[in-house]
Amino acid sequence: MTQAQLLDGRTLADRIKRQLSTQLAGLSARPQLRVLYFETPTSMTYWAAQRKVAQELGIGIEGVMRSTDVAPDEVNQLIQQWNTDPSVHGMFVHQPLPKQLDAQRLSALIDPRKDIEGIHPQNSARRFFAKARIGSCTALAVMELIESTGVALEGKEAVVVGHSEIVGRPVSMLLLDKLATTTICHVGTDKAGRLEDHVRRADVLVVAVGRPHFIRGEWIKPGAIVIDVGINVVNGRVVGDVEFEAARQRAAFISPVPGGVGPVTVMMVMKNTVEAYKLQKA
Ligand code: NAP
Repeated sequence: MTQAQLLDGRTLADRIKRQLSTQLAGLSARPQLRVLYFETPTSMTYWAAQRKVAQELGIGIEGVMRSTDVAPDEVNQLIQQWNTDPSVHGMFVHQPLPKQLDAQRLSALIDPRKDIEGIHPQNSARRFFAKARIGSCTALAVMELIESTGVALEGKEAVVVGHSEIVGRPVSMLLLDKLATTTICHVGTDKAGRLEDHVRRADVLVVAVGRPHFIRGEWIKPGAIVIDVGINVVNGRVVGDVEFEAARQRAAFISPVPGGVGPVTVMMVMKNTVEAYKLQKA
């Protein structure tokens, strides 16, 4: 059996970057992005990646780092300040949030036109009606990787493992928009012992759980497209949620971790910043 084709997120991100550069050259001013990140290794690494790409593209970026015990009022004030500052076009708050911050309240506080992650209720509702202008960066990255295979999704069995508000649910909506027959699996599916059954019939499998090598390679349907969103550190090494080597022997396309969804997600943050800028200038 031949090995799956790797979905190289870095190459895809470079391609999107070139398109974005052309768009940016046509704008009358530089879009400005503000990022709230936290003093954790993951958040600091993600911030460094966002800053690097924004600077390469010429998008104005400023980050504010807070410790994980930041007071909710301080975060609220920061968001209000960015909401009312006309020179700020987009804001991005890193997740997972420290536990004292309420994700729903925070999402509702962000000006929906500046909401780069598409988490404001208005933006979530637009996604529900397939009318999103700015969507979840990770979900958009997953779709870019799937679309790069050239495989049409209509009528395909798509299985999403994980139903979080920033990954699993928005990805499921986008797959549905493409007329894939979409199944969402979660902790209840696993408890019922049904996860393997669902994964085995997936033409397109998207996994966003956050458990290393959680999806067994032998479960992958031969010829499937496998998108691994998970980021886990095991013995100092970053690994995904799928047993990569075994899955690679069965899938037709597979995204590696690292170097798959991650770099494309960072580029989607930039793309959404440009979209937010245009929305505010329209
Ligand atoms: P999350 O909010 O923790 O959600 C994890 C999801 O997995 C939940 O819906 C959870 O369901 C489900 N789950 C937990 N245990 C399960 C089980 N045994 N069987 C089936 N489903 C189970 O995480 P997230 O923000 O969606 O992120 C998921 C992973 O993707 C993490 O590793 C994260 O670091 C990574 N990530 C990567 C990128 C990127 O750009 N590469 C971006 C975002 C996230 P319940 O809520 O029902 O427990």
